[in-house]
Amino acid sequence: MTDKIYSTSTLEFMFLLVHITGPSHSEDTISGDSWCYQGCDKDPPNWAKLIPSECGGSKQSPINIHTSVLTPDSQLRAFTFTNFSNPHSITRLINTGHTVRCTLEKNTVEVKGGGLKYNYSANEIHFHWGSENHPGSEHTVNDKRYQMEMHIVSLKKELAEEKAKQIPDGIAVLGFFIEEADEEETTEAWKNLISYFANITKIQTFVNVNHKISISDLLGDVDLNKFYRYNGSLTTPTCNEVVVWTVFKEPIKVSKDLVEQFPKTMNYEEIYRPIQNLNGRKIYASPAILSDGGHTWCYHDCEYVPSHWHMLPHSQCGGERQSPISINTKDVIPDSSLKAFTLTNFSSPHSIRSIENTGHTVNCVLVENMVEIGGGGLNHQYSALHFHFHWGSSSDSSVGSEHTVNSKRYPMEMHIVNIMKGLTMNEAKKHPEGLAVLGFFIEVVDEEHKERLDHGTGYIAQLKSKEFKMNCWKVLTSYLTQIQEKDSAVDVHEPISLDCLLGDVDRTKYYRYNGSLTTPTCDEAVVWTVFMQPITVSRDLVKMFPAKMGFNEVYRPQQCLHKRKVYISAAPTFAAPWPLLLLLNLLLAGWGSMSASKKG
Ligand SMILES: [Zn+2]
Ligand SMILES: [Zn+2]
Repeated sequence: MTDKIYSTSTLEFMFLLVHITGPSHSEDTISGDSWCYQGCDKDPPNWAKLIPSECGGSKQSPINIHTSVLTPDSQLRAFTFTNFSNPHSITRLINTGHTVRCTLEKNTVEVKGGGLKYNYSANEIHFHWGSENHPGSEHTVNDKRYQMEMHIVSLKKELAEEKAKQIPDGIAVLGFFIEEADEEETTEAWKNLISYFANITKIQTFVNVNHKISISDLLGDVDLNKFYRYNGSLTTPTCNEVVVWTVFKEPIKVSKDLVEQFPKTMNYEEIYRPIQNLNGRKIYASPAILSDGGHTWCYHDCEYVPSHWHMLPHSQCGGERQSPISINTKDVIPDSSLKAFTLTNFSSPHSIRSIENTGHTVNCVLVENMVEIGGGGLNHQYSALHFHFHWGSSSDSSVGSEHTVNSKRYPMEMHIVNIMKGLTMNEAKKHPEGLAVLGFFIEVVDEEHKERLDHGTGYIAQLKSKEFKMNCWKVLTSYLTQIQEKDSAVDVHEPISLDCLLGDVDRTKYYRYNGSLTTPTCDEAVVWTVFMQPITVSRDLVKMFPAKMGFNEVYRPQQCLHKRKVYISAAPTFAAPWPLLLLLNLLLAGWGSMSASKKG
């Protein structure tokens, strides 16, 4: 073991000792100012008193990353890493007494792109860890602390370390979380790296690396396009506020027993600095992060409320063909081409595969390639994907439909989302008629109303249909108790058909206009059909949506119509020439007066 330590010349070793005990070495320093993480006078709360020190500044690191207040930055594109896959770039491991530092081959490993202002030369990798029972990453995400954190420290190209520490963005650190994983998920690279630890158990010793270990091998399959960015500091004294931080979202997976080797063999633990105040700094997110989660927008209580949706990456929410809209019946244009739909498998009782809580709505996923729509004045054939709901609150008078008719907002709205046959979702979103959404208003009906119907003899058929319909809404809403957790889903086994849910709504009477999806990224690819007659659902069942999901008012406000027109399906009789219309009017008037006189 010891022969390995002295495998380089004694002279070089002596030089190294002098070097690493000198006053300046990137992130952590062993100097006369012998700071510590705990158990000495110069622990983190007292780092600000060291001389010199920027540790009491206002742009310190690490920080907690709140994913609900990220600022999207389209400049945060892919990095270009040079020699990350070079198996000889890690030359030496050093136990500094504060961390294990991997020295990188000089002027070999480079970092650029990724929205960085400069090109950087990486000179070291080091680690932060906790203890056997406590995680020890420096950054946290939504207050979650990962097991460990790895820092790749790079200096602005052609700058010496002392110089880099004095200019803004002089140092770029890439931070990677490390999470405990199963044995199988750990790469050979980590086993090889940690196998050297036995040779550096004493502080200020080093060992040369003979194994082929590349940085890429250590990173494994972490998605390098998903990262957070902010301006901060070194996380060890002298805490210079010159660091442009990149913290990658996805953690590296390393097995538990290897993670435990860090505190165990180094014999010091909890080597991370506590979270520092953000002090108004912004945390930026790469586009890959935002297109990923989909939960960064909301209807209220987050940064991306509807009025800010247009600022999301790839957003079309600020366009001139947005939905929903207010429909004013005095402005709609009759269109005789808006005929009946051809609805395939709407009567199938097994078309709903599962029901999920997306955090924004209740989404019912349909069995693939089963339900289809055509006709109805659509220029293409469409395949139904899923249907979901928009609602208000759980109060009795609550309204929450997205579209309104003559300013009336209904209690709920149901959307059946269909994709043009033969297109992928990405293709459909780019096609002006790629998607067709069928919108149905939902009106509440009270139990008393049902009872009143019970006594009327002439309403038996209608009542039966309503009872039947109520039953399938009862079945559908009974699944809501099983998906109260966000992102949870449940398979549907009981029979529920779309026909049953839609009930006796007249499907030949509808409004038509060109619009968008009503949630980010609001793609302007939707041919909208909004049916005039509402579905009626009992009040208790309507209330179950806000009550069981725990979120309210999930509808987008009205969008400007701009130059668009709204059309209305017209029964063929209205398209008849005017003498016929006149005759019809006369007949109707005659019938009206007849029935009036009869009643009178
Ligand atoms: Zn560090
Ligand atoms: Zn919708």
